[in-house]
Amino acid sequence: MRTFSRVLAALVLPAALLAQQAPPPVTAIKAGTLIDGTGGAPVKNAVILIQGDRITAVGANVAIPRGATVIDLSGETVLPGFIDAHVHLVGRTIGDGDWQHSGLVESPAELALLGAAHAQQTLEAGFTTVRVVGTPHFGDLALRNAINFGWLPGPRIVGAGISFGIRGGHCDETDGLWPGALGEEHGIEAGVANGEDEVRNAVRYMVKYGADVIKICATGGVLSPTDSVGVQQYTEDEMRVIVQTAAMLDRRVAAHAHGTAGIKAAVRAGVTSIEHGSLLDSEAVALMKEHSTYLVPTLLAGFTVESLANSKGLPPVIAAKALQVASRARQSFKMAVAGGVKIALGTDAGVMRHGTNGREFELMVRYGGMAPMQAIVAGTLSGATLLGRDHDVGTVAVGKLADLVAVKGDPLQDIAVLQRVDFVMKGGAVFKRDGQVVGRSAGGIP
Ligand SMILES: [Zn+2]
Repeated sequence: MRTFSRVLAALVLPAALLAQQAPPPVTAIKAGTLIDGTGGAPVKNAVILIQGDRITAVGANVAIPRGATVIDLSGETVLPGFIDAHVHLVGRTIGDGDWQHSGLVESPAELALLGAAHAQQTLEAGFTTVRVVGTPHFGDLALRNAINFGWLPGPRIVGAGISFGIRGGHCDETDGLWPGALGEEHGIEAGVANGEDEVRNAVRYMVKYGADVIKICATGGVLSPTDSVGVQQYTEDEMRVIVQTAAMLDRRVAAHAHGTAGIKAAVRAGVTSIEHGSLLDSEAVALMKEHSTYLVPTLLAGFTVESLANSKGLPPVIAAKALQVASRARQSFKMAVAGGVKIALGTDAGVMRHGTNGREFELMVRYGGMAPMQAIVAGTLSGATLLGRDHDVGTVAVGKLADLVAVKGDPLQDIAVLQRVDFVMKGGAVFKRDGQVVGRSAGGIP
């Protein structure tokens, strides 16, 4: 053992000394225009210096040190890596093969591997951080770890593990199946927790297996076969227990909620974000403002299911629910923007194709009367704050991780340019350049 330590010391010491003598090499990015994610005015001809995985200097008057590796993006607009606060990376996308039965006929391993492909598509689109809000079998947490270990390229993941709700509710994985099909009623592993004791236990179970955030179903949903979309599912008391238990374990709660009563109950119970928020009224908007609750509007999901419903691409029961909420959801989003509710960008990717997440920016401007800069902040700083990661990501600032994207053109003139990301850097490592994935780079796998 002692010999081993000495050998180890001999190996480690010179490397440590070397590291002291040579600071990490500097990368300098020349940005034609910098939009830093704070909502502040764009900066022309900015320079961003990066050492290791962090930003060490940024501004218009930053000198490029001799010997720095220069990345010339002087013809482009540079922004912080985008953040999508509502995705489902693991599993089939709607319309992909036998998507409705995928969870019954494909193994958790198969679905997680599909998730790895989706993760790469998401990173290619410039989304360097995502919150995954509901995955069977904890596939999102396996994917998060694999990406963090450097096994696979992908965005930083804040994962919820299994989302849960009442028996027969939107989060119940076996909702709509003939009871005999699975032999027994399932519990938390299928997303079911009823009553205060079970929901307390469910939060602890998720945290035990590594969940970063807790995701619950406060109301009915569109894609679940048996529930009405507008109904409240968890009681306010159940949600209060969920929020308190999560807070005790240093976790936040995201609540899927379409219906008005369920939204209000979830907000009063103290959830951090309302996902979808399709049927808001003025009281709900006022409550969200009062409690500083975020809205994650998932406009792209609404757009996608409405289009699928109109083109007969969904089962009739689900299509009817999609059409029932579509136009109300757009109105609700507009009311929330006008009412000053905090908004973070989220798409519900998995409903629509992964890698098309950037379209949400365009819909936020088109539907909500959001200015392009407001939409950009929703998809950068606001997302980071909602996720509790604003010390690391969300803006281009000294000390933050070097997660950067670049686009050709001016997103303040044409927000759609954010759908064509030309350059992606994650943690100082270039993943995409000139519109092409370059994969492994000097900094390792992003
Ligand atoms: Zn979702």
